[in-house]
Amino acid sequence: MADSRVVLCRQEGNAVENELNRLVNALPGLVWTALPDGHIDFLNERWCEYTGLSVDQACGSGWQAAIHAEDLDTHKNRWLASLASGQPYENEARHRSASGEYRWFLVRAVPLRDERGNILKWYGILTDIEDRKQAEALLAAEKRIFEMTAKGDPLGQILDNLCRLAEEQAKGVLTSILLLDGNRLRHGGAPSLPKAYTNAIDGASIGPSAGSCGTAAYRREQVIVENIATDPLWADYRELALPYSLRACWSTPVFSSQGNVIATFAMYYREPRSPSPRDQGIIEQITHLAGVAIERKQTQEALRRSEAYLGQAQRLSHTGSFGWHVSSGEIYWSEETFRIFDIEPSTEPTLERLFERIYPEDRASVRQVIDSAIREGKGFDFEHRLLMPDISVKHVRVVAHPSAKDESGELEFVGAVTDITERKHAEEALRRSETYLAEGQRLSKTGSWAYNPFAQKANYWSEEMFRICELDPRQGPPAAETFLQRIHPEDRDNLMEVLGKAALEKTEYEDHPRLLLPDGTVKYLHAIGHPVFDRSGEVIQYVGTAVDVTERKRAEAERARLRQLEADLAHMNRVSMMGELTASLAHEVKQPIAAAATNARTGLRWLQREPPDIGEAREALSRIVKDVNRAAGIVDRTCALYRRGAPKLEMADLNEFIREMALLLRERAIQHSILIRTELDGALPTITADPVQMQQVLLNLMLNGIEAMKDTGGKLTVRSEKAEDDQILLAVSDLGIGLPVENPERIFDPFFTTKVQGTGMGLSICRKIIESHGGRLWACANTGRGATFQFTLPAGRSTS
Ligand code: ADP
Repeated sequence: MADSRVVLCRQEGNAVENELNRLVNALPGLVWTALPDGHIDFLNERWCEYTGLSVDQACGSGWQAAIHAEDLDTHKNRWLASLASGQPYENEARHRSASGEYRWFLVRAVPLRDERGNILKWYGILTDIEDRKQAEALLAAEKRIFEMTAKGDPLGQILDNLCRLAEEQAKGVLTSILLLDGNRLRHGGAPSLPKAYTNAIDGASIGPSAGSCGTAAYRREQVIVENIATDPLWADYRELALPYSLRACWSTPVFSSQGNVIATFAMYYREPRSPSPRDQGIIEQITHLAGVAIERKQTQEALRRSEAYLGQAQRLSHTGSFGWHVSSGEIYWSEETFRIFDIEPSTEPTLERLFERIYPEDRASVRQVIDSAIREGKGFDFEHRLLMPDISVKHVRVVAHPSAKDESGELEFVGAVTDITERKHAEEALRRSETYLAEGQRLSKTGSWAYNPFAQKANYWSEEMFRICELDPRQGPPAAETFLQRIHPEDRDNLMEVLGKAALEKTEYEDHPRLLLPDGTVKYLHAIGHPVFDRSGEVIQYVGTAVDVTERKRAEAERARLRQLEADLAHMNRVSMMGELTASLAHEVKQPIAAAATNARTGLRWLQREPPDIGEAREALSRIVKDVNRAAGIVDRTCALYRRGAPKLEMADLNEFIREMALLLRERAIQHSILIRTELDGALPTITADPVQMQQVLLNLMLNGIEAMKDTGGKLTVRSEKAEDDQILLAVSDLGIGLPVENPERIFDPFFTTKVQGTGMGLSICRKIIESHGGRLWACANTGRGATFQFTLPAGRSTS
């Protein structure tokens, strides 16, 4: 353009110029001409039409009235510069139309020169660039909005800016953007509307008749209200708007990319009016931009939220994430990854830093895994340890998969690292407790198991279970059939019956089957099973234990044998004692028999009298009956002492037993110059005891006392009294040889005796009897000579 030349022949002169003016006037563009000094000497009709200025008004420098005040200085200065340099002129400036509106024009002018190059005239043309300008402004605004959203400026500010952009483009308009929140409208942006008004409509519900905005959001279409004062849509809001002289309001919904209404954009005017196509253009631009900004903001917000949740989730699950671009070495770590490695988040993560943290012994294997993953372009999943700065050890699991980063297909790993230290510790604890359990099972010979009665197969057998049954653990939990093979043939049917019954009744069971092992050994089991139910109450399996009670069984049998032996020995002891008593027994029995004989003789004499004395004879006969009864009594009691039998508990008077024994032993005592003395508590409570056993204890203790004094003679004292705590106490004291010095307690051991003929069982049996009656028996040396044997018994009852 700058090189173009308009050359006209001088000769053609004014005629040509007139013709040219005619032509120029007919052109559909705005055209002017100026003299070489810049004086405007011609403006075409279109120019005058647009600006509303006449040629007379505009010629000279009158045209300047049509230029926007802000653009005038540049416009003039450039014009002067072109005049001075003779260079073509070009500038953009806003020109006022006849109606007072400004539009952007590109003004260009070129000089007309003569053959010598002198400027004869300037020719100028105006091109309407309003649309381009608007598009540019819009683009700039769009850029600004994007910058603001990218910068994270508050949405309110962005929307206010958008409103201002709209207000710049249309004179006298007041705009607002409301955000849709559920079915309510919230304040978004409205920089020019009165605050009180925007506050009042903040939170208004949308609906079929809710002002322009509420209705537009509800209908999802533009709502044009030309006159707020009369439009029925404003019935509820009129009183709010009119005091602020808001008279027209056009509202347009803003849609998201998914087609949802997210906001409304409204243009208010202070006079009733309807939108021009230009207004619609502005509306279209602003709603588009608002949609982009709001959606971006919402996306940002959602992203921020989801990042926050992700961070939180990573912290909770002790899982960090990472990305690693292999060739560039670029590494991304999430916050949690930094935390797991205990590396300051501001430091840049590198492979070297990572390796510094890896437990030294694990480094080589980690390196190997990573190298082969890179070589094969495959993911990896492995566990290793970290050595932390405080020398604690962490366990981590690293899982990654490869993903091609860009078109060039460069390798990038994306993955997660989880701190599994706690899990490792728990596993370790579990392993330990399992070991303890197995050890406990081994020591207690207790196997545990789970059995599925439907599959007729064990689901689980503990190690000890295999050991007890001598089955191979490598074969896994056995089928019912295999296990049954191990059961003693005599016990199989019973076991099957018990199991079957329990399964049918869904109850627990207990059984004592024997095992018959391949080498012929028999083991005794004590098996207990509990049903496990599913939600519907069906038995899904039985779980339980089987204890190898063979040793216990043997011990029990041994104990039973010993008990029998003891009983036999006790009996023998009694028998041998009775043997020693034969002499006194004979004496005891002889006495009432002799008395009976004497009485019989006396009776006979009374009968032989003339007349016979029946009364005296009856007396004598009665005495015989008594004598005989006494003899029978002695025989009965003696026999009871010989008899074997289970102990029988009765209410008994201990004093009575003492008297009886004193009587029984009197003869024997006299033989050895021994006096038996009794000191009995008259108020002694009764006891619950086996009479034969009580007699046996007294007999033993008293005989031992006599025995101890047999060479020296002396006194045997038997004393009874009521002691504390509802106990009665009995003491047998002698003045004999005394207890063996070295260990007086030993005399209670079975078979301990210092006598040639002794059995050594007496005291041990006595102690057992007293203890089984809930009492205590002990011996102590007397201060003077001899020993005292004492026992206590609970009054009125016995635990035997
Ligand atoms: P045995 O009388 O058959 O020896 P005992 O168990 O009755 O069995 O007594 C064990 C031992 O206790 C006696 O051999 C004796 O040494 C000692 N002993 C028992 N009673 C007395 C006593 N009153 N004085 C001294 N020693 C006694």
